[in-house]
Amino acid sequence: MIRIGSGIDFHQLVAGRDLWIGGIQIPHTKGALGHSDADVLLHAICDALLGAACLGDIGVHFPDTASEFKDIDSKILLARTVALIQAAGYTIGNIDSTLCLEAPKIKPYVPAMQQCIATICGIAITDISIKATTTERMGFVGREEGLVATASVLLFKANHH
Ligand SMILES: [Zn+2]
Repeated sequence: MIRIGSGIDFHQLVAGRDLWIGGIQIPHTKGALGHSDADVLLHAICDALLGAACLGDIGVHFPDTASEFKDIDSKILLARTVALIQAAGYTIGNIDSTLCLEAPKIKPYVPAMQQCIATICGIAITDISIKATTTERMGFVGREEGLVATASVLLFKANHH
């Protein structure tokens, strides 16, 4: 049995914040604003995993009103999400994702992101794809006011449940 899931996340880019994407800190003049470390890619992947398992969304499990999640490392949120879907009997097939931001160029950081996510999810780095694009300077992404990530995942469920 296979199931598909999709996730999308947005964060503002502001001065005075660190920029975390895919579990990696990236040097930049701005960082993502949010209750947690605002890792847009890990959040999109969490939502895709939860969606595939029909387990709600990241806001249900890790509410941004809870002090326990203030400034939390999103790698912890991803690990907890993986534990939730595994407890429901699922294993991860592959993850495909796209980052949409104007700057900085993230290609040099992609292998480290893949390794980080693969380790947390217990999959091979060849099962985690991370692509990047810009909006050709259009809109809020083009003005560097924010960034977007989307993710799609495939889950397998054992038949003996
Ligand atoms: Zn987010």
